Amino acid sequence: MSDPQRGLGTRAVHGPPAPVVGQQPLVAPIYRTATFVFDTAQQMADVFAGREPGWSYSRTDNPTAQAFADAVAALEDPSGLAVAQPFASGMAAISSTLLALCASGSHVIAPREVYGGTWTLLTRQLARFGVTTTFVDGTDLSAVRAALRPETAVLWGEVLANPTMSVADLPGLSVIARDAGVPFVVDATFCSPVVCRPLEHGVDLVVHSATKYLGGHSDVTGGVVVGAAALLERIRTVRLDTGGALAPDEAALLTRGLATLPLRVVRQCQTALTVATALQQDDRIVRVDHPGLRTHRDHALAARLFTPGLYGAVVTLTPRGGRAAGLAMLDRLRLVKRATSLGGTVTKAVHVASTTHSSLDDASLAAAGIDPGAVRLSVGLEDAEDLVADLLQALDRP
Ligand SMILES: *Cc1c(COP(=O)(O)O)cnc(C)c1O
Repeated sequence: MSDPQRGLGTRAVHGPPAPVVGQQPLVAPIYRTATFVFDTAQQMADVFAGREPGWSYSRTDNPTAQAFADAVAALEDPSGLAVAQPFASGMAAISSTLLALCASGSHVIAPREVYGGTWTLLTRQLARFGVTTTFVDGTDLSAVRAALRPETAVLWGEVLANPTMSVADLPGLSVIARDAGVPFVVDATFCSPVVCRPLEHGVDLVVHSATKYLGGHSDVTGGVVVGAAALLERIRTVRLDTGGALAPDEAALLTRGLATLPLRVVRQCQTALTVATALQQDDRIVRVDHPGLRTHRDHALAARLFTPGLYGAVVTLTPRGGRAAGLAMLDRLRLVKRATSLGGTVTKAVHVASTTHSSLDDASLAAAGIDPGAVRLSVGLEDAEDLVADLLQALDRP
């Protein structure tokens, strides 16, 4: 209770205590607090020592952030065995995971097309601490097996790779990892649990940039890791030590996003397939990469691993005419936004060779199977006809 004898300054910071609500709220409240109050020194000591459940400090754990991670775990693993930890970004999730699993001298196997941030984390940062990485064609199981070493600590994969939309053979790779006793981690950002739930295919840990489909509105940055409790506790410890905690306001936005995740992603996938099919029929387009197309190399694998009829909502279009044609197509877009990232409500386009893959020269692009003119679309919630019309007019000569 506030004491009228105390000065205004004291009363301003020692207001009445926040209500403690014993009732279940319909929606997880935002615990926008950096720290939590204890009744006694003993309770404080017990919570700090982990002898008693409780909350101490929001870099360590925050109830709003944990509610978001728990909700993702429930989507990835309906059996309820998997647990999850929240992070400030996809890269905070990925770096905490790799730091938890690696030590000096460890070896990592990752696909050549791995997300740029993961690639630079491995080659620019972890390499300085004696972690080496072999980048392989992740779709070639014998190449993955051949890359194994006694010191291999992680097999890394991406369910759908950017921008070629190649699909990882999750069951095949998980057998290789299990035989070698190496944890198999996949980045499932491009799929979301609506399209694919990797834990059902033998994967040990699933990471997401929640910035993309989980949040779904391009207004928040976050990440999450899902898997077995023992591994997650090690990963949580790295977050405590490195500080990549998810803020409560961001967590609440992400949890709100999850409520409409199935509606958004189903619609986005359907529209993406419509767009891919329409554009493939135009002879000014030389190539369309989307696993929903029968012409895509991994169509059969995607059909086996993914929710029936859903193939993700990213489409890579290659207009005739190389690099200049890709840049010109981007400049002529009227409805589709020139913007990076994916998974939001608004359709976005990037010219791959000058943005997400600008560190690759034309020879490296060719080796990775990427045309210098490729344009990657993240399909949003607009009407398919409007998107197709915008993309077709962007192909026209000015
Ligand atoms: C965006 C992205 C990340 C990184 O996530 P941030 O939230 O930007 O840190 C990691 N992996 C993939 C596949 C991504 O698309």
